[in-house]
Amino acid sequence: MSAYLELQGIRKQFGNTNVLNHVDLQIHEGELVTLLGPSGCGKSTLLRCIAGLTDIDGGKIILEQKDIVNLAPRNREIGMVFQSYALFPNLTVSENIQYGMKMRGASKGERRNRSEELLALIDLEDKRDAYPRHLSGGQQQRVALARSLAVQPKVLLLDEPLSALDAKIRKNLRTEIRDIQRKFNMTTIFVTHDQEEALIISDRVCLMNKGSIVQQGTPEELYTTPRTEFVARFMGSYN
Ligand code: ADP
Ligand code: MG
Repeated sequence: MSAYLELQGIRKQFGNTNVLNHVDLQIHEGELVTLLGPSGCGKSTLLRCIAGLTDIDGGKIILEQKDIVNLAPRNREIGMVFQSYALFPNLTVSENIQYGMKMRGASKGERRNRSEELLALIDLEDKRDAYPRHLSGGQQQRVALARSLAVQPKVLLLDEPLSALDAKIRKNLRTEIRDIQRKFNMTTIFVTHDQEEALIISDRVCLMNKGSIVQQGTPEELYTTPRTEFVARFMGSYN
C-alpha cells in the first residue's frame, strides 16, 4: 500500500537552530498517526509546515502523489485544530462551522445541511445559535473539529486539541475524536506530549526528540520494545 501523505526530508530552521532535521514520514489513508514528544521538539512546527502555515527550508510534502509544498494553505485540503480554541468569537456555532464552506462558495442550502449533520455528530444541535463564549472548553473543541471537517479535508491535523481541558472531559473527547476519525476514515496526525494519550488513541506512534522522529511503531511496539533509553523513559516502559 503506497502512502497517502508522505513527508520527505523536511527541514526547518529558526535562526541558526535546526527545529526539524530531515523528517521522513509516511501515512496511509485513514490512519491516525500520533506525533509524541517533549515540549519544544518540533511537533507544532511540523504540523504548521504540513498545513502551509510555516514555510519549509527543504523537503517534499506529497499528498496523493502530488507535491503540495508550493500550494497556499487553503488549497492544500488540510484541516487543522489547535490547542486553544480558535473559533471566531463574533460568529455563532453554526456560522463558525459554515465559514470555510462559505469561503469556498458553497450554497446556503448545502452549508446548512452539512452544518446540521456535523452538529448532530458532535451532539451540539441545541447550541447552533450560541456564541463560542457561551460554550465550555470541550464544546468549543468539538465545534473546532466540526469546522475543520466541514470542508472535507483530505488530512486532519490536531495539535494538542485536548491539552487545555480537564481530565474527565479530555478522556471523553479523546474517544469522540477517535470515533469520528474512524467513521470518516479520516487520515489524521494527532500531536500530544502525553504518552498515555498517544498509546490509547493511535494506530501508530512517532516519538520525536529535538526535531527528529527517533522511533515509530504501534503503541505496543514503542512501549514494549523501546530502542533507546530516551524512548524507554518517555514511554514509561520501566514502570
Ligand atoms: P512543540 O510543539 O513540540 O512543543 P514547537 O514546534 O512549537 O515544539 O517548537 C520547536 C522549537 O522551535 C522550539 O525550540 C521553539 O522555541 C522554536 N520555535 C517555534 N516557532 C518558532 C518561531 N516562530 N520562531 C522562532 N523559534 C520558533
Ligand atoms: Mg506544540
